[in-house]
Amino acid sequence: MFRSASYRLVSCRGLATNATKNLTIGLIPGDGIGKEVIPAGRQVLENLNPKHGLSFNFIDLQAGFQTFLDTGKALPDETVKVLKEQCQGALFGAVQSPTTKVEGYSSPIVALRKALSLYANVRPVKSVSGTNDRPVDMIIIRENTEDLYIKIEKTYKDPATGTRVAEATKRITEVATRRIATIALDIALQRLKNNGQATLTVTHKSNVLSQSDGLFREICKDVYESNKNKYGGITYNEQIVDSMVYRMFREPECFDVVVAPNLYGDILSDGAAALVGSLGVVPSANVGPEIVIGEPCHGSAPDIAGKGIANPIATIRSTALMLEFLGFNAAAQDIHQAVDANIREGRVKTADLGGDATTQQVTDDILARL
Ligand code: ATP
Repeated sequence: MFRSASYRLVSCRGLATNATKNLTIGLIPGDGIGKEVIPAGRQVLENLNPKHGLSFNFIDLQAGFQTFLDTGKALPDETVKVLKEQCQGALFGAVQSPTTKVEGYSSPIVALRKALSLYANVRPVKSVSGTNDRPVDMIIIRENTEDLYIKIEKTYKDPATGTRVAEATKRITEVATRRIATIALDIALQRLKNNGQATLTVTHKSNVLSQSDGLFREICKDVYESNKNKYGGITYNEQIVDSMVYRMFREPECFDVVVAPNLYGDILSDGAAALVGSLGVVPSANVGPEIVIGEPCHGSAPDIAGKGIANPIATIRSTALMLEFLGFNAAAQDIHQAVDANIREGRVKTADLGGDATTQQVTDDILARL
């Protein structure tokens, strides 16, 4: 089971304080299998046990490559406005990312993270006990707003050779690093309370990038050292990203909470997904001060899109994570338990996990366990 978290780092703007809490949730399926898995997240919310006293309004919202082709904008202003003004949470499916430059197009999820100050991407990677999987239980906290993802790139001709040179800017700021180190340490603190031990691993490449990754490393350490009274019980480690990858595959059980700049966090979490069977089971939450967006770690999977066979578990777990970060931990744990029971039993599973069930059959099996 995903560990009980009670993170509640988000203000839950506009939430009524009466016994029944009504949450407004934006649904942004995006492209490809996003359209097939987001309905699973919605059905799980609609079928939560009434004891949790939660009810939901859903607002369908547009974003993605198809939206760009249809309207000329990958992230319509209306989507951002509704999320900002009306929603406490949202579920984002996936966007198809063209590998070559398409004039006028840029990733809507990257823009959304910026527009809503979703500064942390929290990615738990965990195997389910009672299965044959290796014991993995780590949370990767990926900085979401800077690094190479600020997308300042240029291409020019090298006057010496007359051939093209492409350059990208990597930006690490003290403010963003302090913020991400703090949420990572707060999550480690929660795990310390639950498990009696917790380790934070700071990932970097400061042996080469002594200024940018050097700053990331320095600030993470400073946040830890300057708050020893609060975080002192957490073991603090640092790991160079390439050796981290090697170790993660050889001894995944060594890692607990991992904090990383944007790019390393992205790569590490997709790699870690291989340790738990499939990208189709790994969730994430984009966390900011006012809203949480649950988002499966996988992409739009064009190879299987439209066939109804995508694994909905990453989205269902992302739905639970969204609830956790909004402070509804008991409801989130019910969802995690239902998913774990489905995986442990191993009877109703999609092709990525070796089965032949459809997206809806897996969703129904999980709903029946809620
Ligand atoms: P994109 O360009 O949107 O990133 P992609 O295919 O390059 O798409 P992913 O969508 O992450 O990247 O998929 C990588 C592989 O994992 C694909 O073979 C895909 O079919 C598989 N996959 C991803 N998500 C799921 C899922 N939910 N269920 C089953 N298989 C999945």
